[in-house]
Amino acid sequence: MRDHRDYLDRALQNSGRDGLLKKDSVEFYRSIYAYQAERLDVYGRLALDAGWIRPAAMPIIDSESLTIAPEEYPPLSEGMGMLLDTLSEMHAGMNFDRLRESFSGGSAPMERAVRALLARDFETLSAQAGASGLGVEEYIFALVNWLKPFFMALAEKFGALVRQDEWMEAHCPVCGYYPDMARIVGAKDGRRFLHCALCEYEWHYKRIGCPVCGNENTEKLGYFAVEGETAYRVDYCDECRGYIKTVQLGKFHEPENCDLTVENILTVDLDSAAMKKGYARP
Ligand SMILES: [Zn+2]
Ligand SMILES: [Zn+2]
Repeated sequence: MRDHRDYLDRALQNSGRDGLLKKDSVEFYRSIYAYQAERLDVYGRLALDAGWIRPAAMPIIDSESLTIAPEEYPPLSEGMGMLLDTLSEMHAGMNFDRLRESFSGGSAPMERAVRALLARDFETLSAQAGASGLGVEEYIFALVNWLKPFFMALAEKFGALVRQDEWMEAHCPVCGYYPDMARIVGAKDGRRFLHCALCEYEWHYKRIGCPVCGNENTEKLGYFAVEGETAYRVDYCDECRGYIKTVQLGKFHEPENCDLTVENILTVDLDSAAMKKGYARP
């Protein structure tokens, strides 16, 4: 979905879930979504034809050889500046000066950050966060939201080339990142789809199997729902102690009318329930 603001507004009006997010959190996400929609237009106009983008392979992105082209650096740098302005406005206590400074000195520090994020190399990410004076979670939040419109532009351009029937992995066939949400689509014979936390591409995944570690032992897989929320459930795995939140769409529910990026922030009660039971997000 290109602009998450409409869905957020409608969901808050219609679902009776408006108590879930505080007013300033709603404003915060609206600003982030506005920034992402604007950036998606800008990045969508880039050539996106570097060698590390491999249209015939899966994942399409070869994160190890990723570089930022000279014409990509100015808009990405500007995007980081815009995002950090928004984050500073909303979180007055956070200081992004060092991150701003490190990302304004050419593309090399950016490339190191993007590669560490895509590889989910937490040791490197922690070191980079520390050098910027940020906690690792804040740092990853900033990186994901900064890069999301860039990788969304890639997914828009190349997503149609993904051969979904040849891909049954728990990570994204476009960018290789991990899923933040799943959905089970009644209108598509109850098939399950995973939604990329970074580029927002969705791909088909097996119904029985942990989307975190791939475990297929049904004795170690289960799910629970939160009272009163029949459309949502948490799928968990006792092999890796991971979980994923799932939206269950009925047979007559248009799959297009469900924005999992927004559903993710509207279902924090499910995250708390899962974490209370000792499960962790991927
Ligand atoms: Zn992706
Ligand atoms: Zn697992």
